[in-house]
Order: sequence, then structure tokens, then C-alpha cells
Amino acid sequence: MCEFCLKHGEGEKWYLQAKNYSDDLLSDVRRRRFIEGFADSEALAREAARGFGQMDRLKKAPKFIRDMVRRNVTRKMKKVHFGQVVPIEEIERIFGFTNSIVRVACICRQAVHRKEKRFCYGISLSPNGGMLAEIFRGLDRNPINGPDASRFESLTKEEAIAAFRAHEQEGLCHTVWTFLTPFIGGICNCDRVDCLAMRSTLTYATPVMFRGEYVAEVDPDLCVGCRECMRLCQFGAAGFSASNKKAVIDQRWCYGCGVCRAACEQDAIRLEDRAKSPVAADLW
Ligand code: SF4
Ligand code: SF4
Repeated sequence: MCEFCLKHGEGEKWYLQAKNYSDDLLSDVRRRRFIEGFADSEALAREAARGFGQMDRLKKAPKFIRDMVRRNVTRKMKKVHFGQVVPIEEIERIFGFTNSIVRVACICRQAVHRKEKRFCYGISLSPNGGMLAEIFRGLDRNPINGPDASRFESLTKEEAIAAFRAHEQEGLCHTVWTFLTPFIGGICNCDRVDCLAMRSTLTYATPVMFRGEYVAEVDPDLCVGCRECMRLCQFGAAGFSASNKKAVIDQRWCYGCGVCRAACEQDAIRLEDRAKSPVAADLW
């Protein structure tokens, strides 16, 4: 169980607690300002580029300095904008208690590629996006025509789940995100190249998201060694045993996203509780 489950979920999965999505949390002015600032993709791109430049320069610093800086960044991000990998069945449970789902452009992809790609979803307990949509619409106010609502594409739960399954087939892993923790306002579909959070976590060893509450396991009796799981795993956890021609998953690297499971036509991969993994129970 990750530390947010203990702090914000009363020992249950924190991202399955409706209170962490509530408009009550969103009425906090500081949080509203944070979300407004966060929506500025140009500023985000500049800030990320500066941050990554600093991380690159940090490689030359003594180890204790590197560790200290990384710890400080993670500590700060846990307070403001932190994520966790969540498998599709629990995304469905989140959609079960939320009342609106809005697809929006991914800020990371806009920052990295300068192109609009819609991989991110705003979720709210209130119909029509509630306060979250109000904040975003407020940012997009056009003095002549009023707010441009076309940026916010409302989806039914069924449409959203179908879109998430398609993202999974592309190898994208689902992640929930806080906007001033513990408020969860978005679910993204991430990959290692485009997602700034994944880059920070994996490339710069500065975690800004938790691993999922699960780890994958291969059933060797069902695996036919096609290696599709290896092709799609973003985390380098899926490997191949040349001696028995089967996939193997190193649970120490597994983030429990379930992308490999979706790719496996033999149904040879299942997700198990991280807490029960002797090698990964304490890895977050
Ligand atoms: S995708 Fe399934 S069958 Fe193919 S190697 Fe991976 S576990 Fe085995
Ligand atoms: S091995 Fe783990 S991290 Fe890799 S795709 Fe499968 S569940 Fe995700």
C-alpha cells in the first residue's frame, strides 16, 4: 500500500475514495490557482526544460547532493502534483463513481511536440465537469465568442473506457494525478518518451509518481514466447528467457500498469497484489 493510501485513503486505495475528487477540495482558492497555472503548457514546457537541464547538470555533482536534490523534488511534488499508475479495472471503478469525464489535450505532449494530442481526461463528481470544467473554461475565455468549449470533449463512461482500452493497446499506461494533493482531477495515458512525469521518474531517478498497487506475473504454461509484452512494457520489466522461450517479468521493475496483460493474446499475464510480492512489496 503506497503512502497516499495510508494518508488519504484510510488504509484503502486512495484513488478509489470519492472524497479525493470532490468539489469541496476544489473550492480551495490555492488549488484553483494551481490548476490555472498548470494549464499553461508553454510555461510548463519551459519549466520542464529548465528542470531537466538542471537534472542533467546534477549528474556531475557528488552522489549525496544528487540524492538530496532528488529527494527534495519528490517531497515537493508529493504535496502538489503526484501520480500513481492504475490498471484499467480500477479506472473503471473510478468512472463508476464520477459523474463527468472530459477529454482534453495532453499538456506534456503539447510541451514536447507542440501538437495537440488528446490523451488526458478530467474527471469530476459533478455533472458537466463541475468546478474543474469551470476553471478550464475560464482559462479559455475568448472576448468575442466566449469560452471555447470545443477543447472539452465530454465522454460517456462507456466511451471513456473504450478509449482507455485503445490507449492500452498502444502501450500507454494509465495514471491518476493530484492537483494539490489529495485532490485528484485527472487521469492520463502516459509513455516514457512524451510524459514529463515518466521521464522524471525513470530517466532522472526522481519519482513524481508511485508504482501501481499491483505487479504482473506470467503463467509459463500459457506463454508462447511471442514477446509482445516485452515490446509494450514502458518500464523494462518484461524480459525473455532464451532457455525456455517464455516471457518473465522482473517485479522489481514492474509498475503494475497491465499494458502487457492487454497485449497478451494467450491470457498468460495476470496482475497480483504488490503487497504479496516478496521482491516488490516495499518498492513504490
Ligand atoms: S505476450 Fe503473452 S504469450 Fe507473448 S511472450 Fe508475453 S506472456 Fe508470453
Ligand atoms: S511488466 Fe509491469 S510495468 Fe511492464 S507492462 Fe506489464 S504490468 Fe506494466
